[in-house]
Amino acid sequence: MSKSLFSADPKAGYLAHADEIRAAIDRVLASGHYILGPEVEAFEREFADYHGNGLVIGVANGTEALELALRGVGVGAGDAVATVANTVTATVAAIEQIGARPVFVEIEADTMLMSVSALEAVLAEEGGRVKAVVPVHLYGQPAAMPAIVESAGRHGAKVVEDCAQSHGAVIAGRQAGTWGDAAAYSFYPTKNVGALGDGGAVFTRDAAVAEKIRMLRQYGWRQRYVSEIPGRNSRLDELQAAVLRVKLKHLDAENAVRRSRAARYLQLLAPASLRLPAVAPGAGPVWHQFTVRTPQREALRTRLAERGIHCGVLYPVPVHHQPAYARPSCHLPETERACAEVLCLPVHPAVTEADVDRVCGEILRWASS
Ligand SMILES: *Cc1c(COP(=O)(O)O)cnc(C)c1O
Repeated sequence: MSKSLFSADPKAGYLAHADEIRAAIDRVLASGHYILGPEVEAFEREFADYHGNGLVIGVANGTEALELALRGVGVGAGDAVATVANTVTATVAAIEQIGARPVFVEIEADTMLMSVSALEAVLAEEGGRVKAVVPVHLYGQPAAMPAIVESAGRHGAKVVEDCAQSHGAVIAGRQAGTWGDAAAYSFYPTKNVGALGDGGAVFTRDAAVAEKIRMLRQYGWRQRYVSEIPGRNSRLDELQAAVLRVKLKHLDAENAVRRSRAARYLQLLAPASLRLPAVAPGAGPVWHQFTVRTPQREALRTRLAERGIHCGVLYPVPVHHQPAYARPSCHLPETERACAEVLCLPVHPAVTEADVDRVCGEILRWASS
């Protein structure tokens, strides 16, 4: 029996760097700083440098990174925020936490990313009520940022990028996260940069936005014990920041492994009757997921699971069909079709070339049976 393979494997991310992570944790334990200390500051600086320049604010998780980024760029109660529905409900939960109103935008059939023409239609229809646009760089594939930023700008809307799956992705020669007014990152353990617990961050090049988010994440303080604005606790802790500094050092090398595995999938699966991921011109994806499509998704998923290959489905139910966010009048046929067909194959850095060959062998056998 060959080993079990999983499309999400949190332990693999620890084992790959166990010695470095243990050393980092020991350093924090001995330091006596456990919340918002030198490790968080160093990580914020290093992650900002990773974007060329700019400012990073470490926060508690990706959902709050989105919420605080939206608040930071000026979104308030009653504002409309345009985003996609083929995302984790966290994207929409962040919008609703503010009392803002999510407006769903259809996706492109080939890339499964926000459609620029659909966005343009929503912005025109809402006539200035959309305060921000939240493109999601789903599966590590960067959305069409040049056109999205242009369209949003023309309608007076800010752009907050959901970078939870896109650490290091590039589009049109520029890193995802650096196009909008702010970008929100998650460091959930299985993301391309993963903590050993929860973590998140906001990136921005706007000092005023950064200052506001910094205050929001801790009680509205600029100065200790002076709450200038209503704030909250959304802090990143020192242990997670120390782990994230280790993970960040390895990000480019690990993204290169993901790229190499994805290239092999694309090559070996070309003959299979599956829809393979489409990469837009000028896009440099980081393959958070390698997502194929077939109307027989459940049959393929079951077959692979029987062979010890456990594939995720990101996401089986679009947000506008979720009980908490149901919009009976909202019709997004491409989004709904994508959610019914997607299957995420194992592509994380612990997946070997031989593993990819084995997965492809099983898929090709299934496809010809
Ligand atoms: C993971 C994820 C989030 C939420 O991040 P958490 O850290 O779990 O709060 C938001 N958006 C997308 C696209 C994600 O993949």
